[in-house]
Amino acid sequence: MRWTTHQVGAVGLALILKLPAAGILAAALGGILPDLIDQRIAGCFHRRQQAFNRIHRGFTHWPGLWLGLLALALALIPPQFSAIAGPFALGLAAGGLSHVVLDMLTPQGIPLLPFTRRGRVSLKLCRTGGLGEWIFLAAMLAGLAFWFRESLNDRGLAATLKAMLGL
Ligand SMILES: [Zn+2]
Repeated sequence: MRWTTHQVGAVGLALILKLPAAGILAAALGGILPDLIDQRIAGCFHRRQQAFNRIHRGFTHWPGLWLGLLALALALIPPQFSAIAGPFALGLAAGGLSHVVLDMLTPQGIPLLPFTRRGRVSLKLCRTGGLGEWIFLAAMLAGLAFWFRESLNDRGLAATLKAMLGL
């Protein structure tokens, strides 16, 4: 999936979870973090592209990692603990989890177990960058508009976005 699709999914999830601005920002980062980490690790190798192809969608795309981080964020940093750190940790973990769920829709899929290329799960719904992804992105935006339809109807888009960000 493209980063735009990932970020729409992650930010949309943060909005549905009613996370404050710090959580929404963290979700936008978390939504691309699994790919960013793979790129960083590959950057340490001489043959960057080969290394990337070998490691991409490995451990960083294992749902258990993000579920674990989500549980940790919920357990260790409850939102009431801090106005910034709590929502940020939750948003980051939720964004990362949304990333691997979205990547599961593509043929390459995600690993069911960490540290192995075997036993991958894929719903084979759409290819990265293909028409299917654009349709999926449009469907996500439509879904979000539907979810927030009352506020959009009552207040309009600008005021709804302001309220979501707590401005
Ligand atoms: Zn990815």
